[in-house]
Amino acid sequence: MQEEQYRARFSGSAALFGRAQRLFPSGLTHDARYLEPFPVYAARAAGAHKWDVDGHELIDYWMGHGALLLGHAHPTLVEAVTAQVARGTHLGANHPLEVEWAELVQALMPAVERIRFTNSGTEATQLAMRLARAYTGRTRIVKFQGHFHGWHDTAAAGGAVRPAGIPEEVMEAALVVPPNEPRVLEEALRSHPDVAGVIIEPGGGAWGELPVRAQFLHDVRDLTERYGVVLIFDEVVTGFRMAPGGAQQYYGIRPDLVCLGKILCGGLPGGAVGGRAEIVDLLAFTGDPARDARKVAHLGTFNANPLSAAAGIAMLRQVQTGEPTRQAAQLNARLVAALNEVLERRRVKGFVYGLSSWFHVALGTEGERQADGSWWPLTTAGAGAELAAQGLVQRLRRAMLLEGVDLMRNGGFLSTAHTLADLEATAQAFDRALERMRE
Ligand code: PLP
Repeated sequence: MQEEQYRARFSGSAALFGRAQRLFPSGLTHDARYLEPFPVYAARAAGAHKWDVDGHELIDYWMGHGALLLGHAHPTLVEAVTAQVARGTHLGANHPLEVEWAELVQALMPAVERIRFTNSGTEATQLAMRLARAYTGRTRIVKFQGHFHGWHDTAAAGGAVRPAGIPEEVMEAALVVPPNEPRVLEEALRSHPDVAGVIIEPGGGAWGELPVRAQFLHDVRDLTERYGVVLIFDEVVTGFRMAPGGAQQYYGIRPDLVCLGKILCGGLPGGAVGGRAEIVDLLAFTGDPARDARKVAHLGTFNANPLSAAAGIAMLRQVQTGEPTRQAAQLNARLVAALNEVLERRRVKGFVYGLSSWFHVALGTEGERQADGSWWPLTTAGAGAELAAQGLVQRLRRAMLLEGVDLMRNGGFLSTAHTLADLEATAQAFDRALERMRE
């Protein structure tokens, strides 16, 4: 029934998906946009809303996969990018914007003594791992179960299953341990003297779906220091969101390397690695041809491209005020409370949780109430895994789309563009969506 309504309402998207299936594997250009029977195609976006190709207005919680802290097409960013397009999209040269952009990052994140821009978050984590290996002369990277660092080989390796196309040697060079278990991490570092770096999403795995305890982050810092291992904070999501200075500021922890992306570039493509000068400077030329031939390699036609730099500068100037972070987090707390109220009123098993300006809806599963009244998922594997197994995420997403809300997986990101009216409309949509899901 719900599927029939979905097909009828989004007929323009169905037609595009028909064409896309003849072009792209699964008809998709990003795995996370998978939705049955087909995903909705967006035509344009402004503020907290987007419009699909059939003209339906949707409240958007994807927010550019977390890149749009100020909402879609923020006037300041539009102006900055438009002005730069006319001045040149690629100058084939160093340019003043890259310097200004890097200075802003450094001012916000004191751990960033040196920085190198990349073209994506994936490239940032790849470069950070390479730097950690070069610095320590070791190969193994420790990761945490459920934490996402992009799609390059080492980021994809280390789990119980070897994804197709990942060499066995790369699998062996990664070690996955459970989060929130300092003793397990210590044992891993003690028994593997070849560990070069530990990488973690400091806001919790899969943008906070699997939260990490603050104390655990401090333990990770202590242990990496004790074992001489490079600590890499993957702040692609948390950077400039949890606090103007990211999770490192929020928790008061100084990592050795920081990976950035998303908000860094104000909604345009890009990323960066920053951190301790003695590590990042392994990218530097020394003037000695023999040594330079062996230095850490990193190139990239579009590194620090002027458009991303222009958008990034406009974005970070706003971040510097502290307002975007504060506002989005406040809105998120209100939304989480409103959605939990709907679940309680309806006596539906489940809970909504989040931190900073992201939230996750866990349906059909128990949570653990924290002292401050917020919720925490019970299993290390996380509520998401259970939701996905039950196909509930797909049903929830379809039901919410029919009610005018576009969730990113089972939750999403808040921005400064969301209004109290949007939150109210979302809570009402959630109420009606839960009714639909009973059908
Ligand atoms: N690291 C984290 C924590 C992410 O959430 C993502 C993307 O969602 C990445 C890395 C990869 O970034 P990108 O998609 O820009 O390659």
